[in-house]
Amino acid sequence: MKIIDAHMHFSVIGNFVETAANINCECDIPTLKREFDKCGVVLGVGMGVDPSNMVEGSINPQIITHGFTKFPPYLAQCLGIATDMITAENREQTLAAYEKLLQEPSSLGFKIYAGYQHYFVDDEIYHPFFKMAEKYDVPVVIHTGDTASSHGKLKYAHPLTVDEAAVDFPKVRFVIAHCGNPWIIDATEVAMKNPNVYLDMSGLIEGLVDSTEFLRERAGYIEHLKTWLNYMDRYDKVMYGSDWPLADMKNYIEIIKAVIPKKYHQAVFYDNALNVFRKLKDYLPREKAVRID
Ligand SMILES: [Zn+2]
Repeated sequence: MKIIDAHMHFSVIGNFVETAANINCECDIPTLKREFDKCGVVLGVGMGVDPSNMVEGSINPQIITHGFTKFPPYLAQCLGIATDMITAENREQTLAAYEKLLQEPSSLGFKIYAGYQHYFVDDEIYHPFFKMAEKYDVPVVIHTGDTASSHGKLKYAHPLTVDEAAVDFPKVRFVIAHCGNPWIIDATEVAMKNPNVYLDMSGLIEGLVDSTEFLRERAGYIEHLKTWLNYMDRYDKVMYGSDWPLADMKNYIEIIKAVIPKKYHQAVFYDNALNVFRKLKDYLPREKAVRID
């Protein structure tokens, strides 16, 4: 089965190096390609976390890793939004820098770090980005749920905050990352109720786990996920994502396969990503045309 990983990272800033080491991996292109080939992943959507320092005087779009400009055909990105650094003075230039980079074929959407950034998703600071997302027909992926750092404020990361933005910007597609974990019920409700809201299944497990053991030992958690996804009954709104290198790709795929009914695997592991990240339709054929490994 061909897989699109709709939420992963490719960064060499401090904690990602450590995170990769936790799963006996390195965050470099040869390792990534080896993992993709092993697991049948044809493309990964990296979430930008590193400032790109591309334009002086503006707050630059956060990209997947500092200085990384040449994309292999199996990797694309969502531009991270460093909200807390946007000021009245740099705002116009900042928006221009984002708009310029968003026009690259490898830029598939935006990423908001709700919770890490202390703004509600419907805060006015994001409105120009939502208008840009609408103009370029790209989605906005939103971190929801638990934060990796205790500096995160959870009220901003609750899936209900996505509901506000989804209603006010009905033409923008929003992705609730991590299925709102642990607010799974709330996340499925927001996705079920809003035609423009989707879920990704990344970040539900961290570190190196054995899938068989995990499915046995955390049977209650798995049942909870299955129950609410089943209750939502909209598998056309669910995308596979790993949050690699936070989790080992192979075991993570096995676990999500166990959560999603088999008849929806094609949709969840591949097709739905094409509907959410619409630029992929033009980007994916490069898979065959260019190989950089
Ligand atoms: Zn992530």
